[in-house]
Amino acid sequence: MTKWLVLPALAMLAGCGTNRPAPRPRGSKPVTLAIPTSRETQACYTDLSREAVRFSPLADRDYGGGCRVAGAVQLIDIGVPVTNLTAMRCGLARSFGGWVRHAAVPAARQMLGSDLVRVESMGTYACRNTVGTARPMLSGHAIANAVDVGAFVLEDGRRISVLNGWQSPDPQVRAFLRVLHDSACKRFGTVLSPDYNAVHRNHLHLEDDHKSFCR
Ligand SMILES: [Zn+2]
Repeated sequence: MTKWLVLPALAMLAGCGTNRPAPRPRGSKPVTLAIPTSRETQACYTDLSREAVRFSPLADRDYGGGCRVAGAVQLIDIGVPVTNLTAMRCGLARSFGGWVRHAAVPAARQMLGSDLVRVESMGTYACRNTVGTARPMLSGHAIANAVDVGAFVLEDGRRISVLNGWQSPDPQVRAFLRVLHDSACKRFGTVLSPDYNAVHRNHLHLEDDHKSFCR
């Protein structure tokens, strides 16, 4: 097929989007969206309640530039304190709660001999593009569908950070972080670690995008 045949086809594809409202630029004033809570989100709320997770549902908001928080919650108590959590899509919050409670808590106790007393996150929602990719695209953080985890604090006072622990001289510390990484790959769609690129040298990026991309 020559390009002269391809071009009209592309024009037709582009035309498919004309019914959608024009995207609002990034940095626009947030607009609260009056959309009914989806069945999927409602089922997720039920799952969180069943797991005894305390949370509050957040209003759906459009921040412009494709940045959008919909079907999101504010986690209040998942059993272990976690710093810096703001809006998370409910499915992400559910996977994250499960990972902390059923992977991080037992791994700390069994592998490091101390209870997990705090998880340090580096944030959830942020209206921004991906960093360190060849072609910048909207980050999973821009739709509140990703969380960055930087460190785990133990009852004995140790702070296991991704930055210092990933290549720690202590094999138990290295193994602890690898176990949490591998468990995350079973629970989240995209998991990025220091093995992926330098941007991720100090955190694990956990994203609920169903992509099976584990690095
Ligand atoms: Zn991230």
